[in-house]
Amino acid sequence: MKRRGKKISKLRDGERVDAADRIDKTIGKYDQKMNRSKKLVKYEALPEYLQDNEFIRDYYRCEWPLKDIVFSLFSWHNETLNIWTHLGGFVIFVTLTVMSLTEKTTTVENLFAGVFRRPGDGQWMNMKNNGSADSSFPDSYGRQITNPSFVDINGDGYEVPIWPWFVFLGGAMGCLISSTLSHLFACHSLRYSLFFWRLDYAGISLMIVCSFFCPIYYIFCDQPYWCIFYLSTITIFGILVIITLLSPALFSGRFRSFRATLFLAMGFSGLIPATHALFLHLGHPQVLVALGYEIIMGILYAIGAAFYVTRFPERCKPGAFDLVGHSHQIFHVFVVAAALAHCVASLLIMDWRRGWPPCNADMLG
Ligand SMILES: [Zn+2]
Repeated sequence: MKRRGKKISKLRDGERVDAADRIDKTIGKYDQKMNRSKKLVKYEALPEYLQDNEFIRDYYRCEWPLKDIVFSLFSWHNETLNIWTHLGGFVIFVTLTVMSLTEKTTTVENLFAGVFRRPGDGQWMNMKNNGSADSSFPDSYGRQITNPSFVDINGDGYEVPIWPWFVFLGGAMGCLISSTLSHLFACHSLRYSLFFWRLDYAGISLMIVCSFFCPIYYIFCDQPYWCIFYLSTITIFGILVIITLLSPALFSGRFRSFRATLFLAMGFSGLIPATHALFLHLGHPQVLVALGYEIIMGILYAIGAAFYVTRFPERCKPGAFDLVGHSHQIFHVFVVAAALAHCVASLLIMDWRRGWPPCNADMLG
């Protein structure tokens, strides 16, 4: 302090005024930051880059320091449920991944115990038994009925590579954690906002692309050209979508519908391989049931996207759904539900392929 005082005292008058001004400005900025910290503001008080949904009127965090943003994970503001809906989904998918890695058999069957039942206990396995009446099924299919495990890669059925399942899990976890981080940190500054919303869009595209790997690999693994064609097409489509969405011009609310349309177009491009699969395996009930779950997934995504685009219900009563129940939270819940429906479809297809000779099942594995 003594040293510093000596230095300042050595300054000439004009320089002293400048130095004092700089100190005042620094203190002012500090005060401003401290005041902003932990203070929730109204929509009108936001800088333009944070104004996205005018129907959410209040409880915004605006340019908070990073430390406060981290702790805001545990406090109420208008992003709290957006963060926790996808953080919860992330935890579900981490659990699925850990179970798939650590348990030798019946990995996900335990998790979905209410949906999947053992032979004779439930509707699904009855369908499977009915399916065995189809004389075109190989003998191994009959053997598979006695071994209902969904992820038993060393059971009585043929081994199938399991990596496409992990590709999907990886994509889902990537999407959900980038969404969580985006909703948590994007309010910090313009730079953070641009970076994290790009990350969010890239995460959504990644999950859509990764979702294709499981069903396409297991359905077309005996037709390598189709398999490679479909997987490379959706991957290129996904990369193009990510490149398009990296443009900062597309970040504004005006392009909300455009972004939703791109994601839906990616998702619904799956109708082409799905129709192809239906044509190839029409007599196989497992494939039909799996496709049924894929249809459920598509419906869930579409409903979620409708909430996202229309900003219902908050547009009907601005300010009433700021903390709980606004469209983005509902959209997040539908995204997680759709991803879980896709999990079920993927496991059914994987299990169905286990009943078949390996054909070219290891061509990509
Ligand atoms: Zn979101």
